[in-house]
Amino acid sequence: DGRTRSEVDAFTRIFGIETEYGVSVTGADAPCNSGQTAMMMFQPIVARSRSTNTYIENGSRLYLDVGSHPEYATAEARDPMDALALDMAGELVMHDLAMDAQRRLRASHGKRTMVHVFKNNADSAGHSFGCHENYLVRRFVPLTVIEHELLPFLITRQIFTGAGRVGERGFQVTQRADFLDEAVSSATTRSRPMVNTRDEPHADPDAFRRLHVIIGDSNRSQWATMMKLATTHLVLCVIEQAGREGRESGFARLAFVDPGAANHAVSRDVSGVGATFDMADGGVISGGAVAMQERYLVAVERFVEDHPEVVASLPRTDVHDVIRQWRTVLETFGSGDADVLADRVDWICKRRLFDALQARTGRLSTSRLEQLDMDYHDVANGTVYASLCRRGGMRTMLGPDAADHALRTPPSDTRAVLRGRFVREAKARGARYSCDWTRLTLMAPQHSEMVLLDPFDFEESERFRRMLGSLD
Ligand code: ATP
Ligand code: MG
Ligand code: MG
Repeated sequence: DGRTRSEVDAFTRIFGIETEYGVSVTGADAPCNSGQTAMMMFQPIVARSRSTNTYIENGSRLYLDVGSHPEYATAEARDPMDALALDMAGELVMHDLAMDAQRRLRASHGKRTMVHVFKNNADSAGHSFGCHENYLVRRFVPLTVIEHELLPFLITRQIFTGAGRVGERGFQVTQRADFLDEAVSSATTRSRPMVNTRDEPHADPDAFRRLHVIIGDSNRSQWATMMKLATTHLVLCVIEQAGREGRESGFARLAFVDPGAANHAVSRDVSGVGATFDMADGGVISGGAVAMQERYLVAVERFVEDHPEVVASLPRTDVHDVIRQWRTVLETFGSGDADVLADRVDWICKRRLFDALQARTGRLSTSRLEQLDMDYHDVANGTVYASLCRRGGMRTMLGPDAADHALRTPPSDTRAVLRGRFVREAKARGARYSCDWTRLTLMAPQHSEMVLLDPFDFEESERFRRMLGSLD
């Protein structure tokens, strides 16, 4: 279509989502804390790979740090839809580990034992845990610029990506605003906790960075997962192009005086249009998160018109459709009927469930509410979310088959396909191996190692074939 390869390449992206899960046990005859439960879940993995840190056949990473939050980090994806499928595969992994642990626990702890695995960001003890997004970005944009120009976007996108929770002062849009308080405040000087500044690109360090976004809720909504990656990608394209041309993106003037305060305001403004922000340039922006998002959206719309090659940056996502949906969300908030977004926005969906519960029971019992909240996030024994999907109360973009497929199949157009194949064949032949994002290592029968520095390179090299060949 007349565009050169490098014009399209300028906007390609690698996406990855890391999700930490919360675990708990109910119905057991004897106590079993979350640390023990998580270890129980990982027993089969430790037995097989002698480690709680492992890569699976779809190229993704599965691990358990010290503590009790199992984590799954999706393999490198070129498209938000692929990242979504891999993320759903992660839910399946957790579900299966939980069911297996539950079966074993029932033998020792009684047959009513239930293992719960929560895809959320806060446990009942008040600990907060994360969902990180990873974006490959070009090295020529300084991290401080990205942080600065992206932070107001990340804070205000929560009106459609927030997972919602009942806080001390009523229903809130996000799970993490109360916890990230100090974290985001210190972003005024350096937004370190909003994005992790550790320079670990998992790629050629001269060409790329890995933007490691910390602020954001875990989503059950498939739509929200896709939209958070796709809209963030488009904003990053604008920022990168400005960097390429050596000019300012236009987003710097959207900086908040106090990002922590802005984050709170967004989380507490369930209208989406009520908050007023003090801006770093001395001005004031009213109209809430929606007014801020509107400014980013207009810039993205203009940018895509001027750079139609951006459309080709995502192989399986329609950029124009993403923009349309983004606009619809903002207009819906603007017209005051945000409730219709309950079929795609987690926090609105949850608020509607809570309201329905209250209407049914006549009052709001904290424990019933908490139970419903946890059930919504429980990928092991929860029923509420699955039933919403079945009855059309929540939109789905991919069915169970796609998740199942993504559990066994790495993306075909990133290096993950090589890692996945390596893991599958090494496992099938009982070889000892290990991986990280840029390396495949065979320990036995024969030591060999291979570096995969380019995340976009999915070709099987001669060296790769030799390495697989040495397994025979
Ligand atoms: P931590 O758990 O301590 O935060 P981490 O975030 O550094 O660790 P992982 O949990 O291993 O690292 O997850 C890395 C994520 O980054 C994965 O989802 C992976 O797909 C993604 N990723 C790998 N290489 C790149 C890259 N070059 N650019 C962007 N993302 C990448
Ligand atoms: Mg991680
Ligand atoms: Mg991380």
